Amino acid sequence: MEIKAIRGFNDILPDETGKWQFVENTAREVFEGFGFSEIRIPIVERTELFSRGIGEATDIVEKEMYTFTDKSGNSLTLRPEATASMVRAYLEHQMYSFDPAAKLYFIGPMFRYERPQKGRYRQFHQIDAEVFGVGNPMVDAELILMLIHFLKKVGLEQLELQINSLGCRDCRPRYREELKKFLTKISFRLCEDCQRRINTNPLRIFDCKVKTCQEAIADAPKVIDYLCEDCRRHFGKVKEYLGIAGLLFTLNPRMVRGLDYYTRTAFEVVSYQLGSQNAVTGGGRYDNLFQEIGSVDIPGIGFAIGMERLISLMPEGKEFIRYPQLFIAALGEGTFKEAYRWINQLHLQGIRAELDYEGKSLKSQMRRADKLKARYVLILGEEELKRGRAVLRNMNTKSQEEILIDNILEIIKNKIVLD
Ligand code: ATP
Ligand code: MG
Repeated sequence: MEIKAIRGFNDILPDETGKWQFVENTAREVFEGFGFSEIRIPIVERTELFSRGIGEATDIVEKEMYTFTDKSGNSLTLRPEATASMVRAYLEHQMYSFDPAAKLYFIGPMFRYERPQKGRYRQFHQIDAEVFGVGNPMVDAELILMLIHFLKKVGLEQLELQINSLGCRDCRPRYREELKKFLTKISFRLCEDCQRRINTNPLRIFDCKVKTCQEAIADAPKVIDYLCEDCRRHFGKVKEYLGIAGLLFTLNPRMVRGLDYYTRTAFEVVSYQLGSQNAVTGGGRYDNLFQEIGSVDIPGIGFAIGMERLISLMPEGKEFIRYPQLFIAALGEGTFKEAYRWINQLHLQGIRAELDYEGKSLKSQMRRADKLKARYVLILGEEELKRGRAVLRNMNTKSQEEILIDNILEIIKNKIVLD
């Protein structure tokens, strides 16, 4: 039987990787420009890091983790997100001892045991950026500005920035109780999952994808009405700085984010092109996560962009696919050796050039050059070689010219560069 990939695990094929590289390169360029540095974290961590960090009563920890026991009996988990690992690394390597403020980013695959469907996979990729050690709302706005700038730079349009504040450990418990009271009254209208959530994690009900649940909670109390003085001030400043940064936003009092560790600022960027999996990216402040993981009081804020969803939204364009800049159609033994020498030289100089390895007829080599969408074809026959000449054909304009072999590489390179 033919072996196939596991459901929810995708190959990213050569005609797609150009887009991926463009997205990754743009992220690096934009983030580095905003003062961020790359960090690389392991794929596998101790399960405890995620269960403690993300929270037991979250979708990820409850049902989505790829957890297994290794040969020494340790419970390990394929990372479902990057933030917890980044916090662990920051603490483990005492990155704060140099300067408490750290701006870090990470790009790589994540693993969640979800039902595979369009825009939802078991291995997917995230671009992640985090600022540790600064509680100032200025950073919240700066991070969001960087995010929006990046999304625009990769060509996304029709985006909406939604923000909310989730309060802190002083004011959120009071809100939680009020919400619980409300939900208990209407619990008969909620799905089974949500009925359970009333006691385990009532805020998660806002994330429920069941339509009747969403209708039932239309009049639920809003977290924003329960913020303490400090949280209200923080949120006010975030909005003010977003304004200074020139960003438009909408307030979404029902956006709570799925993870337990969020406090204060929460944000999502949604695209109406995506349908039900409409969040391209989301993030927020998590001033309690460091305490969960390392018993220290360090603030943090970050976001994660889903790369598959991001790429599905990018405008179509074949400019991401790289075609050969030159195809050498060589005819005969002697010419073939010469062509081989030239092609090596071109490759060493970074020119994407192809050769026919099979010694086929000119017609069939031209067909292949056409199929590969080569920009130029250099036609080299025994006779021409003896006369010190070759023919260069521009495949777009179909025009041909005879060129001298003496300076052939220079001539070709100049043509390609000027193109
Ligand atoms: P959702 O509500 O769609 O499940 P989430 O809240 O679980 O999203 P986060 O944990 O915030 O998502 O992850 C950030 C981003 O990663 C999401 O906005 C999305 O673009 C992407 N993402 C999350 N889960 C998946 C998945 N299973 N497959 C593909 N992309 C995903
Ligand atoms: Mg999810």
